[in-house]
Amino acid sequence: MEYTILGRTGLNVTRTSFGVLPLQRVPMEEAVLILQSAFNRGINFYDTARAYSDSEEKIGRALSHVREKIIISTKSVAQKGEDLLKDLETSLKNLKTDYIDILQFHNPQFLPHTQTGDSIYTAAEKAREQGKIRFIGITNHSLKLAIEAVESDFYDTMQFPLSMISSQEDLGIIDLCKKKNIGLIAMKALSGGLITNAPLAFAFLRQFSHVVPIWGIQKMKELDQLLELDAKPPAVTEKMSAEIEKEKKELAGQFCRACGYCLPCPADIPIPMAARMSLLLNRMPWEQFLEPQWQEKMARIDACTECHHCKDHCPYGLDTPNLLRENYRYYREFLKKKSSVDPEKI
Ligand code: SF4
Ligand code: SF4
Repeated sequence: MEYTILGRTGLNVTRTSFGVLPLQRVPMEEAVLILQSAFNRGINFYDTARAYSDSEEKIGRALSHVREKIIISTKSVAQKGEDLLKDLETSLKNLKTDYIDILQFHNPQFLPHTQTGDSIYTAAEKAREQGKIRFIGITNHSLKLAIEAVESDFYDTMQFPLSMISSQEDLGIIDLCKKKNIGLIAMKALSGGLITNAPLAFAFLRQFSHVVPIWGIQKMKELDQLLELDAKPPAVTEKMSAEIEKEKKELAGQFCRACGYCLPCPADIPIPMAARMSLLLNRMPWEQFLEPQWQEKMARIDACTECHHCKDHCPYGLDTPNLLRENYRYYREFLKKKSSVDPEKI
């Protein structure tokens, strides 16, 4: 496998790395098998978070016996130093280790090094002095905050959503991180499932030698596909560039990236899926979304209270209630059309 140095951390990580978030949806034994297979076949970098339910425990169960051969990053959403240290202790216990390679502040709405009082940055520095963590990183969905964090020189790594449909503005973070020698971890390489052409997505990010995508893997066959791509990385051809442009055009503008920062919704609307339903219906096998349980979930949009919690927390500045209404309108029309064409399928 190819390796790259993760910026100023000096960590030598595999260019194909593992985002463990989706394994929270997989039973323990199956998750352990997938993680061990990934390790045995060469992947050495695993990214998780305190917020990803039992994904830290799965890594601990699967890989603690090879701890010194892997690199682990995790995250905390804590806003106070005391809470960050508590989270860190939980992560260490779950991961069955006595150190974390990279502790990341999980999508804060502020820059932790500017915090006063019980600062999470000061707490992380203390943990670093004690040898409990090696490096301090940050993740963000806001380009403005991401740029400020990289330019501040307070962080060793930046984790940011990057994919072949990222805007030119977003892609600017790639050169900036290189210039500042900050490790750049790319999340959402498949844009939360909207990109269905994995070879194209892989080829696009492979062009940037210092960018480390953490591919969300939840099935053995997904791991197989990524390792096949890693063994024979496709280059971006003219034909591929044209396809990327086509995808970009189709997904251009204000679409939901499924980051989930708008949750919880008091009306229990599954926003990250519901707000991009029109795209899902056109880009994935649609039958599953017309089943009664999805009809019920989409109908919850009618119960939106306009509390604006979602809108106020969306890092992409989306008018989420409106986006939900538009998607629900499209969904009902789609349902009507398909019901008249092929009712047995629904
Ligand atoms: S505005 Fe509507 S969709 Fe958004 S959080 Fe409130 S109830 Fe949920
Ligand atoms: S509406 Fe915004 S915050 Fe919610 S999932 Fe979509 S992109 Fe994320």
